[in-house]
Amino acid sequence: MTETIRNYDSQVIPYLEVYKEENRTKKRWHHTRADKETRYAHYYQHKTATLSEKERWGIDLIKIGLQRAVRPVVSCSFGIDSIVDVYLTRKALIELGRDPSDIDIVWNDTANEFQDVRQYQKFITQEWNLRLKITKPEKTLKHIIMDNGGVTDDYFFTRKGDRTKNKQPLSEKCCGTLKHKPMKKMIKEHEWDLVIVGLRADESTARFQAGLRDGEFFYSNSEWKSLVCRPILWWTEDDIWDYVAQEDIPYNSLYDKNQIQEYPEQSKLIQMIDEFNEQLLSVGLDIEKLKKRELSTVTRKQAILLKKKLKFKLFPPRTGCMMCPIPVKYGYMSWMREYYPKVYNAMVHNLGYGKALIGMVPDDVKEEIKQFLGIDVTADNAHEFLQEILEFKPCTFDKL
Ligand code: SF4
Repeated sequence: MTETIRNYDSQVIPYLEVYKEENRTKKRWHHTRADKETRYAHYYQHKTATLSEKERWGIDLIKIGLQRAVRPVVSCSFGIDSIVDVYLTRKALIELGRDPSDIDIVWNDTANEFQDVRQYQKFITQEWNLRLKITKPEKTLKHIIMDNGGVTDDYFFTRKGDRTKNKQPLSEKCCGTLKHKPMKKMIKEHEWDLVIVGLRADESTARFQAGLRDGEFFYSNSEWKSLVCRPILWWTEDDIWDYVAQEDIPYNSLYDKNQIQEYPEQSKLIQMIDEFNEQLLSVGLDIEKLKKRELSTVTRKQAILLKKKLKFKLFPPRTGCMMCPIPVKYGYMSWMREYYPKVYNAMVHNLGYGKALIGMVPDDVKEEIKQFLGIDVTADNAHEFLQEILEFKPCTFDKL
């Protein structure tokens, strides 16, 4: 066991102090987090660590949690990060001489999940004999939208937590109803005392900051009210996919639907293909097709390389809510239109996304619609012509 993990083990000893102050009973938590040096240690060490070292540290972290817990659980979305988490937990249980299936797995089913995820969930639950607990929301996405009086612009572009209009954004209400409430109810029912989560710091700035603030092993006295273990906190996306390939871990088919949305300019493309030729071949890319701009769907490993090194505009899907408005600004509608046309139509017409999005299309598209159809998409009644607009230009919402 590394010094960092030993430090987590010796420093995270949560204890609730109950004391009196001015005749009032007060409570204060102690030793919920490791010191700063420990929390930062693996962050720096992971920059040069090998994949097998990262695996070892992840398993050891899970083991210290499992040895303390009576009712542990792995939180799993059946996305790639959480499935690596489940896999590492199963290895940790085996190393402790226990049954690898002897742990609860909780899945937050939002009733808004991709078919790929549902099918994969059934397959892997049977394959690994998972003890699965499934949460269910009280309302569907459609009902949340209807209760709000329909979709508004803020649903697409207001960030969660933004109260500038003095009211809770629809996306926040939506997450509260579909995700947070059902999960809180489940936590209360099962009294889990250790939650293993697949959070990775390089997914967003907020996650990176949360990683440094709380570390890889800590006590959550607000959200979970239990110990929390983050075994892959400092893994990169490349690490995850290298590990999946190395261990031959099955994953859901959503990750094979990475859409190239824009190629770099031709002379730049040729120059970059020459520069990264070996790397492109190593992930199985067809160089000739790439040069001719004939590839539109690539694997995840290929997508990571094309996006990071060759600066392609790509949409790499995530496991999560299928009809979510949040990724719309990153090319989601183009992706949905190609891979899930029926769901795309339901979003645009049944959920009312089209009505809200029509005023947000880029100026050149607005101009084209006006010129050919004589419809002014900035007008209040533009949504009445939605069908006509989309028949003329199906890609109207591709670049919002
Ligand atoms: S659809 Fe989007 S906003 Fe709604 S719960 Fe899912 S992630 Fe949150």
